Amino acid sequence: MSIKILSEAEIKEQKKNAYETPAVLFANPKNLYQRRAKRLRDLAQDHPLADYLLFAADVVESQLATLEKNPLSKQEIENTSGIEPLNAKTLKRNGIWREYLIEILHEIKPKANEQMAATIESLEKASSAELEEMASQLLAEEFNLVSSDKAVFLWAALSLYWLQLTQQIPHASRLENTENIHYCPVCGSVPVASMIHIGTSQGLRYLHCSLCESEWNLVRAQCTNCNGHDKLEMWSLNEELALIRAETCGSCESYLKMMFQEKDPNVEAVADDLASIFLDVEMEEKGFARSGLNPFIFPAQDA
Ligand SMILES: [Zn+2]
Ligand SMILES: [Zn+2]
Repeated sequence: MSIKILSEAEIKEQKKNAYETPAVLFANPKNLYQRRAKRLRDLAQDHPLADYLLFAADVVESQLATLEKNPLSKQEIENTSGIEPLNAKTLKRNGIWREYLIEILHEIKPKANEQMAATIESLEKASSAELEEMASQLLAEEFNLVSSDKAVFLWAALSLYWLQLTQQIPHASRLENTENIHYCPVCGSVPVASMIHIGTSQGLRYLHCSLCESEWNLVRAQCTNCNGHDKLEMWSLNEELALIRAETCGSCESYLKMMFQEKDPNVEAVADDLASIFLDVEMEEKGFARSGLNPFIFPAQDA
């Protein structure tokens, strides 16, 4: 990975240099969950998948409630700077994420339909060792080993934990090179989608992390997956609005959605990616594989 989180000493050094675009933007947890839940509820209006968008909004609100009730205390983190300091596969995680899971399940339970209630019950009955095993499989991107309905809840708890960890490391970063930029420089996870910003970072593209919710800068007109740049195409379902487009790459036959804040400042990576699932169907019909991950749509488990 090629964006480095800077140590205190490196930050002092960096300040001597001219202003640069921040390579990584860190989320404000409370603000993020409030915006996402509201966006999901807005998008649910007259949407064919309204029920699922509203379920996702409930999960996001349960993350926010858990954050406020049981915030993460100061953690001993082995590396707070360098490359992927909070690597999802190697970081020794605190079991507190399982408390988050229980709280999220508790919040969702009264609103759950029959099928979901069965999923919740099975997670509540799972041992700590079973939960840790499923968590490790998800974080290692072995999505075929965990049922997708359980994955949503497990990921919601893990993401809440990782998001809070990002608040405990230095928030300065530097672009080292543009190789292997598909993975989050903070935790090493795949992106949800890319966002074209407005405001101080006008026109710049940032990829949004599916786990720790950080965003990292990547130049446009470059495939986020393979760095290719000569076989890129943009697709959308509604050319007039084109708030959300899919950027396909003919070299690696993958795509990632790109969202434009200038078309609607309320656009939100996870919510808008989920609500635009029909664009995924179109892209898959054209033979492109999704390179991103939405925390509410996990690939199916192997039978
Ligand atoms: Zn991340
Ligand atoms: Zn590519």
